[in-house]
Order: sequence, then structure tokens, then C-alpha cells
Amino acid sequence: MTSKRRNLSPSPETAAAAAAFLDTQEITTTDCRRCGTEIHGINGRYSCGNCGFVNHWSEGHNVLPSGEDDLLT
Ligand SMILES: [Zn+2]
Repeated sequence: MTSKRRNLSPSPETAAAAAAFLDTQEITTTDCRRCGTEIHGINGRYSCGNCGFVNHWSEGHNVLPSGEDDLLT
């Protein structure tokens, strides 16, 4: 019987790309509005691992791509 080994850890290239991506993101900290736990977010978007609170997308610092942008890519 053969079993396929699955390598779940990212390759060095993937890890480097992820690190480069995160370098361009603005990571901020705030207190969860629901439970008060300190939570970290990227570009103004937060989600709380303690109570599941997620802030609204419109509170993010980034302009979201429009539907038109979506069609162009
Ligand atoms: Zn919370």
C-alpha cells in the first residue's frame, strides 16, 4: 500500500513571497469592540479570534477594487 506524502509547509519561495506581501501591509492593533481582547489587523480590517467579531469592510484603509476593475483583470 502506498501513501502520498503531503508537504503542508510552504516552500521557501512561498514564504518569501508572503513575507514580502506582509511587508507592504499596515498592521495595526486595537481592542475588540465586543469583548475587549487586543486584536491585530491589516489595513484597518480586524477579526477577533476570541469572540468572532469582524469589523465592517468599509472601515478598512484600502479602497476596494470596483466591479469594473475586476472585469479588467
Ligand atoms: Zn472579541
